[in-house]
Amino acid sequence: MKRRDLLKNTGLFGISALLAPALSAKGLSVKTPNEKLKIIVSGGHPDDPETGCGGTIKLLTNAGHQVINYYLTVGQGGIEGLSAQKAAEIRKKEAVEACRILGAQRVFGSQLDGAAEVNKARYDEILQFLEEQKPDVVFTQWPIDTHPDHRACSLLFYNAWLRSSSGFDLYYYEVMTGRQTQNFTPTVFVDISSVIESKRKACFAHKSQKVKEWYDNIHGVMEKFRGGQCYARYGEAFARQQPFGSNLFS
Ligand SMILES: [Zn+2]
Repeated sequence: MKRRDLLKNTGLFGISALLAPALSAKGLSVKTPNEKLKIIVSGGHPDDPETGCGGTIKLLTNAGHQVINYYLTVGQGGIEGLSAQKAAEIRKKEAVEACRILGAQRVFGSQLDGAAEVNKARYDEILQFLEEQKPDVVFTQWPIDTHPDHRACSLLFYNAWLRSSSGFDLYYYEVMTGRQTQNFTPTVFVDISSVIESKRKACFAHKSQKVKEWYDNIHGVMEKFRGGQCYARYGEAFARQQPFGSNLFS
């Protein structure tokens, strides 16, 4: 058996591999094509879900699954020379357009860019959001990251995963690996070659963010590297939170 076939058979490839545990929790399998799942992709700022998971989001929505991008902040600190209010307006519009391209819905959180808080009230806020939404799968940022808002996002959603009464499957994604995400150890790879143009368009919808510079120099390189690991032209990689017990610390 070739290595590629071995990886496929062990379930490390594709959105089927990503969704298999959530389907299994419902007593279903990936061979149940009509089962539609609800998926939330959280990120510290507008552009994080798109850059880390844009291809996977597009594959999921193309397959009929419901995807909601949750932006912890609206990126109000992210445009030099503009007031927080003006920057927030621009970045919200960019996120709306990116979500339109990917076929995703969006929710904007109430935290401040560059000052995201992790405390009891914020833990409760995210837990309540997820208890209301009842997603099957949640994506969040990898916790070891040079940006404090990314770390905050990761911890808030990880804590909700620990405390959730409904239970959902949790994955971590990477952004600007080496510069932001550090020590990332993926366990699942998705071939995004068929939707790479949609992903690029969604990323480039964030016109205020010097996209060409970071896409060409960092994210484009990551996509090729992750693609190489799953025998595809372009790929995205995820680390699955390993389940254990339940509600150990609530
Ligand atoms: Zn960010």
